[in-house]
Amino acid sequence: MAKPFASSADLGDKTETLDVVADGVYALTAEGDPNVGAIEGEDFLVAFEARATPVAARGWLDRLREHTDKPVRYLVLSHYHAVRVLGASAFDADVIVTHDNTRKLIAERGQQDWDSEFGRMPRLFREPASVPGLTWPDVTFGDSMTIQLGGDRGELVLQYCGRGHTAGDIVAWLPRSKVLFAGDLVEAEAALYTGDAFHTDWSTGTLDRVKEFGAEVLIGGRGGVTRGRAAVDAAIEQTRSFLLVMREKVGEVHRRGGTVKEAFEATHAALAPKFGAWPIFEHCLPFDVQRLWDEFDGVDWPRIWTAERDREVWDVLQG
Ligand SMILES: [Zn+2]
Repeated sequence: MAKPFASSADLGDKTETLDVVADGVYALTAEGDPNVGAIEGEDFLVAFEARATPVAARGWLDRLREHTDKPVRYLVLSHYHAVRVLGASAFDADVIVTHDNTRKLIAERGQQDWDSEFGRMPRLFREPASVPGLTWPDVTFGDSMTIQLGGDRGELVLQYCGRGHTAGDIVAWLPRSKVLFAGDLVEAEAALYTGDAFHTDWSTGTLDRVKEFGAEVLIGGRGGVTRGRAAVDAAIEQTRSFLLVMREKVGEVHRRGGTVKEAFEATHAALAPKFGAWPIFEHCLPFDVQRLWDEFDGVDWPRIWTAERDREVWDVLQG
């Protein structure tokens, strides 16, 4: 029987959990749906990620407002994906911050990505008509940017760690409390989406840099809050092992002149015992394998996913 396209049949509500992970540091996780967070400054907030629509974002802000009524000065977007950026208008932020490459990717493929992600994950787009348009950053940077939180709250460091889940992922690091918001560079018991990724960079230098923070608490892109240095390192290594298995399996088939379908089946068989039950595994894997296949073909800059191309690749690999 054909599998339903991507997450189009995943329509049940998830339980959302708000964790106060350190003094004035909040994370909302949702059983494998995209995570969001917020950090209190002395008289302002920094929000991390925006959700898929303003209405979905308001659901998060309502929870956050039970803890603090400070205004959102900065909205930090870890990367360009629609389910994390299109709710931005709900925050009424003074400054939206991304990496330089994220601005470039929004200009190049923001609309196609919106259409693609809406088709793949319709449940996340609560009241889709509430999205006023693409989200554009006010401030971008290439390497790092530091936000002084004021009082004795220390600083928040936004850091680019290299190409990974996309060309423009940034993480948010609180040196004082050793909390790291890793975006989609690290997932905690959720499958990886690598359809726009750079598998080699991500699985080597980029994850090495993420690990170097020595975080005690990690909030990944999806999945629960990870606490304790050993558990944080394990989550990072689990992410790396997913990528390494993909590189090995897709690489083997590519080198012997096989087909992308064979690469998909070999990768699925290798990953499913450990990762198959995790959220979005079946959804992601066709797009993941296709992107890695392109990388082995020498396509450095990821091809743009459109709603049409999504269906074509799905039909070949999961159909
Ligand atoms: Zn993403």
